[in-house]
Amino acid sequence: MRRLHALSADSMEGRLAGSAGGARARAWLVRELNAIGVKPLGARFEMPFTLRQRTPSPDSIGTNIVARIPGKNRGGPVIVLSAHYDHVGVRNGQIYNGADDDASGCVVLLAIAEQLLQTPPQHDVILAFFDAEEGGLQGARAFVANPPLPLGQIGVNVNLDMVARQDGGALWVAGTSHSPFLKAYAEQAASSASVRIRFGHDTKDLKPGDDWTNSSDHGAFHAKAVPFLYLGVEDHPDYHKPGDDADKIDPVFFRGTMEYAAALVRALDGALGTFPARAP
Ligand SMILES: [Zn+2]
Repeated sequence: MRRLHALSADSMEGRLAGSAGGARARAWLVRELNAIGVKPLGARFEMPFTLRQRTPSPDSIGTNIVARIPGKNRGGPVIVLSAHYDHVGVRNGQIYNGADDDASGCVVLLAIAEQLLQTPPQHDVILAFFDAEEGGLQGARAFVANPPLPLGQIGVNVNLDMVARQDGGALWVAGTSHSPFLKAYAEQAASSASVRIRFGHDTKDLKPGDDWTNSSDHGAFHAKAVPFLYLGVEDHPDYHKPGDDADKIDPVFFRGTMEYAAALVRALDGALGTFPARAP
């Protein structure tokens, strides 16, 4: 919760991609990663990309932050664990703090990073804090368009976006209809979860908006045939509103989603070498 309050503070000015507030959020994330002891995937954490024009941003550069937790087996498949740190900024003088969307996902990534450093995974876990999700998954699309490691090496993308509000009473896991082999691991992790886990929101028969296949950064991975699992809650009254604040988060539910995500990463890590091969 300390981290959630920090990343969704008014001083971050809603973390719009390309803004001064976005740069402050990025500096905060890099400080946290350094404090935890996480190393960048490349020479540095920051991976810049060009923002599309339609983004109402003062700067034309977006910046992903990409880190790597080394696994015991080098060179094999990896998990890309992602969340977006940008949000929609300030509108009509009101700051959109985006505590749930998606400071919550970023904070879960930091917590999982701490656990993985204490008990290393079998496979590398790449932490991707994407920029400009709100402007059309731009950071994630830049990542898969110019990947820092071969896309064929990414066994699965686990994307977290809005994981801290319990209004809907459950944490949803989307993606298993596209990659049914993943469901066993998501269910295995759910067996010990303290929050209600539901599967769905990933089929074309749903009414518009209820199929979340392309609703967040996992859509960029899906477009490149990388299997994904998306974790998120139903839209709530503060979705994309100035009221998406840290004081609306239920810490017990948030802890439950964090523990589920951590268990899911462990379950996937244990099986990553057995996942079906994909065409490169
Ligand atoms: Zn989001």
